Amino acid sequence: MIASGERRAYGLCRPPGHHACTDMAWGFCYLNYIATLAESLRMQGAEHVAILDIDIHHGNGTQQIFYYRPDVMTVSVHADPDRFPIFFSGYADEVGSGAGVGFNLNLPLKPGSDDSAFVDAISVGMRKVRDFGPDVLLVSLGLDAYRADPLSVFEVSTNGFRRAAETIGSFDGPVALSQEGGYPCSELGDNLVAFLAAIDD
Ligand SMILES: [Zn+2]
Repeated sequence: MIASGERRAYGLCRPPGHHACTDMAWGFCYLNYIATLAESLRMQGAEHVAILDIDIHHGNGTQQIFYYRPDVMTVSVHADPDRFPIFFSGYADEVGSGAGVGFNLNLPLKPGSDDSAFVDAISVGMRKVRDFGPDVLLVSLGLDAYRADPLSVFEVSTNGFRRAAETIGSFDGPVALSQEGGYPCSELGDNLVAFLAAIDD
C-alpha cells in the first residue's frame, strides 16, 4: 500500500516480528515484518527508511539486521534493559557499527514511566528521524507499554497512545505500522483504535 502511494498503512501481524534476527527466532518472533518491509521499500526505490519501535521490549532483531547500515535508521523506545527483559540489548550506547554508526538510537526508560516520559522519548526519537529525512517511516507498534498490560512496567494510558500517535503522525511522509506486542487486557482494542484514529493523515 505504501509503495503504491498510500499515506498510512497498518498490518495486524501475529505473531509479532521485532525480536527476529537474520539467523535467530526469539521472543515469539519468527519473521521480522518491519525489517522485511524496510528492505522491500529500499528495493522499490526508497533511498532512506526510518523505523521507530515503541514496544516496551527493545526491538533487538530490527537493530541487529540494520546495525551496520546507514540507509535504514532504527530508533527504539523501551523499558531499560538493565531492569527489564530483554536484558542483553537496548542500551543507549548501542549506536550502530561501521557505516551504521549514528543510525541506531536506543531510548531506554525506567519502570514506572508515564505518558509524559513515553511521549517525550518518542519526540526525541522523531527529531532524530526528521534530521535523517527518510522517504518513509515504519513503526513497530507495540501496545504493551499500557499500564494494565500483563507484561508492562510502564504507566502509559490510552490517552498516552493517542498523544504518541499525534507525535508520530506529524511526520511529513508516509507511515506504515506493524503490530508488535500487546497482551490480553480489556483495553487492548481501545488503545489500538485510539492510536490509529490519531495517526490518520
Ligand atoms: Zn513487547
